[in-house]
Amino acid sequence: MLFLGVGLETSIHKGASFLWILGLLLTLALVMVLMARWQVRPVAAPLEQLLSGTGPRAIEDLPGAWSALERANLELRERAAREDRLLPGIMARLEEGVLLLGADGQLEQFNPAAQRHLGLSAPLTKGMPVADVFLDPDGRAAVKRAYQGTSGEWRLTRAARSLRVRAIPFAPLGPVSGVLLTLDDITSQEALETTRQKFISNVSHELKTPVTAIRIAAENLQEEELPDVARGNAASILRSVDRLALLLGDLSELSRIESGALHLAPVSLDPTAFFETTLQELRQQHGGTGVELAGSLTAPAGIRILADPLRLNQVLENLVSNAVKFTPPGGQVMVTATLTDQGQTWEVRDQGPGIPEAEQGRIFERFYRAQAAKAKPGTGLGLAIVKHLCRLMGGEVTVESRPGEGATFRVMLPPSQKPEAS
Ligand code: ADP
Repeated sequence: MLFLGVGLETSIHKGASFLWILGLLLTLALVMVLMARWQVRPVAAPLEQLLSGTGPRAIEDLPGAWSALERANLELRERAAREDRLLPGIMARLEEGVLLLGADGQLEQFNPAAQRHLGLSAPLTKGMPVADVFLDPDGRAAVKRAYQGTSGEWRLTRAARSLRVRAIPFAPLGPVSGVLLTLDDITSQEALETTRQKFISNVSHELKTPVTAIRIAAENLQEEELPDVARGNAASILRSVDRLALLLGDLSELSRIESGALHLAPVSLDPTAFFETTLQELRQQHGGTGVELAGSLTAPAGIRILADPLRLNQVLENLVSNAVKFTPPGGQVMVTATLTDQGQTWEVRDQGPGIPEAEQGRIFERFYRAQAAKAKPGTGLGLAIVKHLCRLMGGEVTVESRPGEGATFRVMLPPSQKPEAS
């Protein structure tokens, strides 16, 4: 009986222990699942160790494992709380304004810098419609495009400050569900840029007179009876002065375009006459180079183009000069124009060494000259002028090239005019 009683008591005791362990394991499992949901790996570690046999093996180890769990849990809660405070902290300290528009076009989030930069008469509030935040048509159009998936930026003047606003489609979970806007105060940047432009414009203007004087003096020197060495020196001065004059001309031209001082004078042109005259002039200009200059125009009969002939000519002249410069004698440069109601495409294709892909994005920067071009004459400003002129004409210029296969520069301009009704 006693034996039976002890056996019963032991099995009751064992059953209780078993239930206790089961309960503890279930609690641990629950905590682990909860922590795993929060992606909290360290909390699960003691239980993992327990289950894998690398942690506590005896029942008496469990309280230790439990308090380790509690400690890890506390640490994670603190970390989560810190991270919750982090984002608003970062947003509050940012110099850039940040705004988030929701799917319905209403303001969901914004930081104090956005409030400050926008300087609206009424403060920003959550739920505010975008139309009340950006009143300008450029801004509304850019936000609309961002909702359609295309990023964009525009300039905004608020309270005598210049802002650059970027609209970025916000799609953290797949389709666009809002628009993220960033605001940068570029007032001082613009002031610096204006100072730079004025400086370049003044310097290039001021240098023109002495350069002309040096040129005349060098020319006069060449007419003198001079020893060979002095004659060679005079010729060298002349070459350098010519390069300097070219650089000054390009510099002042670029600064005039960049500062907005250059205005187009578009007129209605007969493209066939314009094309033929331009080609003829270019052939004369590059006569002695041994490079053939071919041309082809495709345009519906009677079509006219609205263009500033001087500036369109300048663009083509720049592109053709480069093309001829890089094409070896005996090669060909092809100028084509395709004019339709949809747009004008002007192309200059050469048989030169081409432009490596890595450099194609940089050649339109001012003063950029590709490594391979360093031996050729040039200022590094021609393509920057072309780019700005194309933009001024409402179009753009691109390049397509593979090393060893020449380069094609393509100028795309707004549509031609329909044939005039006779
Ligand atoms: P540059 O006065 O040096 O010709 P550009 O601004 O016109 O200045 O051109 C910038 C650079 O682009 C050139 O130095 C050259 O490296 C490259 N480039 C321009 N056109 C061509 C071309 N047709 N073929 C190869 N490289 C070219």
